Amino acid sequence: MPTSGDGSAALPHVVLLPSAGMGHLVPFSRLAVALTSGHGCDVSVATVLPTVSSAESAHLEALFAACPAVRRLDFHLAQFDASEFPGADPFFLRFEAMRRSAPLFGPLLAGAHALVTDIALASVVIPVAKELRLPCYVLFTASAAMLSLCVHFPAYLDASAGGPVGDVDVPGVYRVPKASIPQALHDPKHLFTRQFIANGRELARSDGLLVNSFDALEPEAIAALQNGSVVAGFPPVFSVGPLAPVSLSAGEPAKSQSDYMRWLEAQPARSVVYVSFGSRKAISKDQLRELAAGLEASGHRFLWVVKSTVLDRDDDADLGELLGEGFLERVQGRGVVTKGWVEQEEVLKQESVGLFVSHCGWNSVTEAAASGLPVLAWPRFGDQRVNAGVVARSGLGLWVDSWSWEGEEGLVKGEEIAEKVRAVMADETARKKAAGVRDAAAKAVADSGTSYQNLAQFVQRCRDGS
Ligand code: UDP
Ligand code: UDP
Repeated sequence: MPTSGDGSAALPHVVLLPSAGMGHLVPFSRLAVALTSGHGCDVSVATVLPTVSSAESAHLEALFAACPAVRRLDFHLAQFDASEFPGADPFFLRFEAMRRSAPLFGPLLAGAHALVTDIALASVVIPVAKELRLPCYVLFTASAAMLSLCVHFPAYLDASAGGPVGDVDVPGVYRVPKASIPQALHDPKHLFTRQFIANGRELARSDGLLVNSFDALEPEAIAALQNGSVVAGFPPVFSVGPLAPVSLSAGEPAKSQSDYMRWLEAQPARSVVYVSFGSRKAISKDQLRELAAGLEASGHRFLWVVKSTVLDRDDDADLGELLGEGFLERVQGRGVVTKGWVEQEEVLKQESVGLFVSHCGWNSVTEAAASGLPVLAWPRFGDQRVNAGVVARSGLGLWVDSWSWEGEEGLVKGEEIAEKVRAVMADETARKKAAGVRDAAAKAVADSGTSYQNLAQFVQRCRDGS
């Protein structure tokens, strides 16, 4: 048990080290607040400036302003020459820059009782913590199904002796079809693949894993990780989700003042389709136009967040031009389209929203689960097809697995999109199943629930120094 200078019991000091991208930062912020306010920890978050996207800067600023108990630790990266990786994704480059700077991280850990690092940094940070004899945990920012794939993948590759990647049967979980394997993993030389394999191999040396999921959402994957079916002797896996959103708007004008929120509040119950493909990737102009045609033809109201560039700082495209002549005028009144950041958490809570057309970034999935909002899954990239599989299995929503994703030929046509949107909007069973997932999520995070208890157990281990 950690003690303070006067011998009394001190709060366990936990340092969090996220990597880049909102998909990683958001769950770390949520964990920081859950540990500080719900479980009596002293928490510091390591921060690398400048961030890759503007969304991350705004998020960090709001976090430290709204939650003064969470301390900020500035982490300065070593010089990094990105020209070694021409054309690489800017977020993967930041992962690499942070990975190469890992040895500099030691001094920030003075006085810490435990470290929680990001999956993208695991293989380089675990050895630093070991050297310091500091317990090191990893927050896995995607689904438990994806975690099981990450843990098993190195063994799969070893057994396939350099052959092409096909379906991957994760022991104790299920078979991940070849088409759902993240695009990069088919290329052994890809920067992401090298990081992914190194991280997957090293996880067994961590002191434990935290995953933003809950037992009722992913029973097979969580049980298989915990009972050693995926890898024998794997460290403890704490399913602690869905981590609660953090209110970061203190001091700002009420969210209901924003145009889209005022509009949403004025629409009838369950009449609006919310469409968002997350913060990470752009969709091609041709596919955006088909989606526009599909939403228009569906006849439903919609709120659509359009992203046409990878980096928000680069986005100067004109919406009218992007979506085709006359589209915005034709849907005026029943469709709201924005390129800006929306408060997704608030959107998902609105009664007027009846369906979430989502790329299935894991945070979006957990937010839909907590709100009981049916999802029409349209994964585009990376782990999203694995996550969409969870959506379909758990009853949270539906997934048309023939719809293409990044790197595949074939546009999904507007008529097909319209038809599916209409079908799911009219599907009472889908609505009830999603509500069932919401009830299970609420149960998991209640005081006696599995996720709450697992997080409490993790904190106890930090107190005990294990
Ligand atoms: N998000 C948001 N507003 C937006 C876009 C995204 O609040 O306009 C939030 C969303 O609620 C989620 C996170 O940003 O918490 C995105 O993470 P996710 O894992 O869903 O997808 P990614 O952006 O990493 O692909
Ligand atoms: N990931 C992983 N190992 C790594 C890096 C990432 O397992 O070395 C996971 C990560 O949690 C996510 C997926 O791989 O589930 C894709 O990562 P990326 O950062 O591209 O996606 P994002 O979370 O930013 O949408």
